[in-house]
Amino acid sequence: MELRDRVAVVTGAGRGIGEVTALELSKAGACVVVSDIDARLAEKTSDRINSMQGKSIAVKADVSSASDVRDLFRKTVERFGRIDILVNNAGIYSRTPILDISEDAWDRVIDVNLKGTFLCCQQVIPVMLKQGCGWIVNMASLAGKRGGVTSGIDYASSKGGVISFTRALAKHLAPRNILVNAIAAANIDTEILQAYEPTVREKQLREIPLGRFGRPEEIAKVVVFLVSDDAGYIVGETINVNGGVFMD
Ligand code: NAD
Repeated sequence: MELRDRVAVVTGAGRGIGEVTALELSKAGACVVVSDIDARLAEKTSDRINSMQGKSIAVKADVSSASDVRDLFRKTVERFGRIDILVNNAGIYSRTPILDISEDAWDRVIDVNLKGTFLCCQQVIPVMLKQGCGWIVNMASLAGKRGGVTSGIDYASSKGGVISFTRALAKHLAPRNILVNAIAAANIDTEILQAYEPTVREKQLREIPLGRFGRPEEIAKVVVFLVSDDAGYIVGETINVNGGVFMD
């Protein structure tokens, strides 16, 4: 996959799926803006990329803050002159039962996972329209397709919103040569999964037809494919990457 000279912004790229996605995009030739709410984590990923002869900067941004997001895209254009790829990966997880979800907790999950995706798209679209092309990948979740099993209803709702948002935006932007897609991951072995009690992990593992948890690389490589010329006819899809626990 050849992404030479393309410029990518990855949110939530300080660790987990976002970190590995930033590294894979760099390996494919892209310049990568590593953004995260945690500045130290963003610097660490960016340093890794630069130490491997890639080109990267780190920008601290909370995706739920319109001013942080404006700043993120302004700094990206200032440094690299264009933006070809946006990966809306930043997300927070919740397992709170519905009767215990506070109004603030509900708002935070929706603000980061859904509003954050919207705010980042709103800033990047004018840049991509001016360039005449672009690629956006949104990190949805299996929970957004079938309702959460282990996850909270707030999380499932936010990710369901991301799937609908992806479809609507994809239709709107395809005529302008901007391709928007999403990925519905499940059971990827990051801190989200590692926080589960061993008994819950064992139960989850038993339910995966492939018999193992997924690796962040297995999501990152799908992102790299979706933003490559090889995926040029895929529009508004939400691709399942889940080891076989759900198919549609
Ligand atoms: P993670 O918790 O390991 O990483 C999330 C990253 O996002 C962290 O670096 C965190 O600092 C950052 N972040 C959190 N809030 C932010 C904010 N407001 N602004 C900017 N950055 C913020 O999670 P992960 O497993 O790597 O998940 C990445 C994405 O994939 C998330 O959107 C998650 O919902 C989604 N996802 C993960 C799985 C899985 O199995 N791990 C399954 C489905 C979907």
